[in-house]
Amino acid sequence: MTDDAATAPTCLAHPFPGQPPAPAGCVAARGLDGRPVHAAALKFFWGPMDCGKSTMALQMNYNHARQGRRGLVTTRIDRSLGPQVTTRIGLAHEAIEVTDDLDLRALVRGRWADGVRVDYLICDEACFYTVEHVEQMAELVDSYDVDVFAFGLATDFRSCLFPATQRLFELADEVARIQVEVLCWCGREGLLNARVVDGRVVREGAQVVIGDTVDTAEVRYQVLCRRHYRSGDLGPRD
Ligand SMILES: [Zn+2]
Repeated sequence: MTDDAATAPTCLAHPFPGQPPAPAGCVAARGLDGRPVHAAALKFFWGPMDCGKSTMALQMNYNHARQGRRGLVTTRIDRSLGPQVTTRIGLAHEAIEVTDDLDLRALVRGRWADGVRVDYLICDEACFYTVEHVEQMAELVDSYDVDVFAFGLATDFRSCLFPATQRLFELADEVARIQVEVLCWCGREGLLNARVVDGRVVREGAQVVIGDTVDTAEVRYQVLCRRHYRSGDLGPRD
C-alpha cells in the first residue's frame, strides 16, 4: 500500500498528506471516451417537512459506506438539537454540527491531514447552512473531488426560498425533489411548510424558529398544499 502510494500518479484532487491514492475518485482518471471515469458532483435533494429527507440522507450514507467509501455527515438544527441526524422513523447517526464559522473545506482538509479518507459529505438540513457553506460545497466538488449530497427544505414558512437553498438550486449539478409524497389534509400533494402558532398560520417572524410537526408543539409546522397554504386553512381538527 505504501509503495503503491509512493508510485501513484500525482492527483491534484488529493494534494494532502495521508490521503491514499485514489485513481477511482481522481478527476485525472479518464475512460476510453476521454470523459472522466468519476467526476464528483454536488447534488441537492429537497422536499417539504416530513418527506423523509433525513432518512434518505442516512440511507445514502449507508449505501456509499457499503461500497467502501468514507464520508462525513453534517447537520444544522436537527430536530434532536444535538450533533446527530435523527429521523421520524427512528434512525439516528452522529453528525458534525455546522456553525456559521465552520469551513467545510477545512473540515475535510483536517481529516485528510489526520490520514482519514473523505470521499463524500452528507449535508442534512442544508437549508439552514449559510450561502458561504454552499460555495464551499462547490469548491469541495470542483477542487477536492469530494462528492457532496445536500438535503433540505426549499422554502421557509413564508413560502420563500432559504438563502442556502437558493444557492444550491443555482450551483448544484443535480437537483431532485424527493418523491415521498406528503399530503395536505385535503389529499392534495403537500408543498409548503406553514408555521402554526395558537392554531393559526403565521406569515411574519424570524426565518428559523424551532418547532415540530406534532400537534402539541408551541410552534408547529404543517405541510399544506398551495391552495390551503394561501387560504390558511388547517383543515378539520379533532
Ligand atoms: Zn390542501
